[in-house]
Amino acid sequence: MASSSKIALSGKSLPELTQFVTELGEPSFRARQLFSWIYSKRASSFDQMTDLSQEVREKLKQTAQIELLEIAHLQISRDGTRKYLFKLPDGALVESVLMSFDDRDTFSACVSSQVGCAVGCTFCATGHMGFIRNLTAAEIVDQVMGIQRDSGARVANVVYMGQGEPLLNVEEVIKSIRALGESVGIGSRHITVSTSGVVPGINRLAQEHLQITLALSLHAPDQQTREQLVPIARKWELPELIRALHNYSQATGRRVTIEYLLLSGLTDTAEKARALAELVRDLHCNINLIPLNPVQTISGQIPFSRPTLVRQRHFQELSGRSGKTVTIRLERGGDIDAACGQLHSLFSQQPQ
Ligand code: SAH
Ligand code: SF4
Repeated sequence: MASSSKIALSGKSLPELTQFVTELGEPSFRARQLFSWIYSKRASSFDQMTDLSQEVREKLKQTAQIELLEIAHLQISRDGTRKYLFKLPDGALVESVLMSFDDRDTFSACVSSQVGCAVGCTFCATGHMGFIRNLTAAEIVDQVMGIQRDSGARVANVVYMGQGEPLLNVEEVIKSIRALGESVGIGSRHITVSTSGVVPGINRLAQEHLQITLALSLHAPDQQTREQLVPIARKWELPELIRALHNYSQATGRRVTIEYLLLSGLTDTAEKARALAELVRDLHCNINLIPLNPVQTISGQIPFSRPTLVRQRHFQELSGRSGKTVTIRLERGGDIDAACGQLHSLFSQQPQ
C-alpha cells in the first residue's frame, strides 16, 4: 500500500535509482538490479527480488516502495477493457484505461497527462471538471507500470488520450515519452499524443524529432464550428494550426492523425465532409472519425448526439474522397464509462 513517507521507485530513471541506492549506502549495481525488477520483471514487491539479500530487501522496505500511484478503484468492461482510478501522492485522482483491440494480446494503455483540463471542450466530461494540476513525468509513466503490475498484460502502445491536454504540460509529457522508451521499453513509434490544438506545444514537440504519432482533435473544418466545440480554437485559429501541423510533419517526417468528432446534425453533414477533405488535402495525414459518446458531465447531459451508423459511413465515404485513409474509431469500454471523453474522476468528488 502506498505510504507518502516512503520514496516511490517506479517511474524513476536509472540515474535516479543510482542516486537513491548511493544515498542508502548501497553499491551502484543495485540500481541496475532494481531497474530490471521494476521495469523488465514488473515486480510489485521487494520480496520478489530474490537476488537481493533479506537484509537489503528489509532496508528497501523501510525507506521505499515500488509504486508511485495507488489503485483506488478498478472497473472491468464486458469487452475486457479495464479502467483504473489512480490516487496520486497528494491524494488527487486520475483515470487510465487498458484496452485490447484484437485477439492477439496486444494491449494499449490510455494515460492522463493532467488532473482535469483547462480547455473546457463542450462535449467532454474532463473539460467540465476544470483544471486541477499537471502530472509529473513519473506519474504518467507509473500509470503504465501500475496497469502492467496489476493486469499482468504487456502494454505495447500508449496513447495520451486520457484526462488533460498533453501539450499544456509539454515538458513533463516529453520526459515521460523518453522514459517510456528508456525504462519501460515502449518506443516512440508505439506512442500517440493527442492535442486539442495547442500550437506552441506542437512546435515544441517538433523540435524533439520524436517518432511518435501526433493526433489533432480537429472536430470541425471551419473556424466558427470549431470555436463552439473547442474553446482554445479562438486562441490558435485554423490557418495557424494547419501550418503548425505541416511544419511538424516536415520536421519529423511523420504522418499526423486528424481526429474528427461526429456530432449529429452539426459536424456530420455532407458539407462538412467536403470542407474537411479540402482543409487537409495537402497535409500528410490520416483521418480518424470519432462517433460522439453521449457523456454525463458534472453539469448534466451534453447537448449533442451521436449520428447513426449509416450517417457515419456516409461521412467516411465523402471525406475519403480527399484520398486520405479515413477510419471510424472502434469504441471500447463504453459500459464502464471508459470510452473517449468519459474520464472525469467523478470519484474525486467523494472521499474514498
Ligand atoms: N486533450 C486531448 C487528449 C485527451 S481527449 C485532446 O483533446 O485531444 C482524447 C480524445 O477524446 C480527443 O480527440 C477528444 O476530443 C475525444 N473526446 C472527448 N470527449 C468525447 C466524447 N464525448 N465522445 C467522443 N470523443 C470524445
Ligand atoms: Fe481537455 Fe481534450 Fe477534453 Fe478538450 S477533449 S476538454 S482538450 S481532455
